[in-house]
Amino acid sequence: MAFKRKFTPKRKFCRFCADKALPLDYKRPDILKDFVTERGKIIARRITGTCAKHQRRLTTEIKRSRQMALMLYTTVHSTDVKKRSI
Ligand SMILES: [Zn+2]
Repeated sequence: MAFKRKFTPKRKFCRFCADKALPLDYKRPDILKDFVTERGKIIARRITGTCAKHQRRLTTEIKRSRQMALMLYTTVHSTDVKKRSI
C-alpha cells in the first residue's frame, strides 16, 4: 500500500493515568527519576507521553524533590562540589 501508516514502535501513554496507584510524589525520587535525563533534565511530555495534567504536577514534584536534595539539579554540579572539597 502506498499510504501505509508510519510504523510506531510503542504507543506512548501517560503512566500516571494508566496506573492510578503509581504515586506522583516528591518523596518518591525512584519514580521521578524515570522522567529526567541522567543529567537531571526533565524529559519533555512529547517524549515520555505523560498527559498535560500529570506533566504539570510532575515538574512541580521534581522541583520539590530537588529542593529536598532527593534528586540532583545537574550531575556536573555534584562532581564539581566533590572535586573542590578534596
Ligand atoms: Zn495522566
